[in-house]
Amino acid sequence: MATIVSTLYNNGGQPIPTCMVCDGPGIREITRKSNRNGNAGRFYYKCQDCNRFINFDDDRGWNPQNPICCCGIPSRRQITGRKKVPGKLHFVCRFGSCDFFGWERNAEGSQMVVPETLIGGLAGLKII
Ligand SMILES: [Zn+2]
Ligand SMILES: [Zn+2]
Repeated sequence: MATIVSTLYNNGGQPIPTCMVCDGPGIREITRKSNRNGNAGRFYYKCQDCNRFINFDDDRGWNPQNPICCCGIPSRRQITGRKKVPGKLHFVCRFGSCDFFGWERNAEGSQMVVPETLIGGLAGLKII
């Protein structure tokens, strides 16, 4: 008998995430090509019921040295979007399963911000 490969598992090997807020199922979408945060054409999950962003469906920004989230796994580094202060580095749950959040700070305790001109390069290296 052929092995049945579940199509429910393409979230980095994790089950399809559910929404932390309303428990609705995640649906897989792709970001617009016009996205200027280095996220153009990037797969992600959002809640089917309340539209809330859940997580990106890739391993970008993920590093074993990142802070550990509430799920007990290394978090994901990403940058804030253009609507608030853009380019601020922070850590969130890799799978969007908990509400872990932490700003990345340098040795002096200041928040780390990525200049817009560097965003594309860092995204290509999967650093963010
Ligand atoms: Zn929801
Ligand atoms: Zn987590």
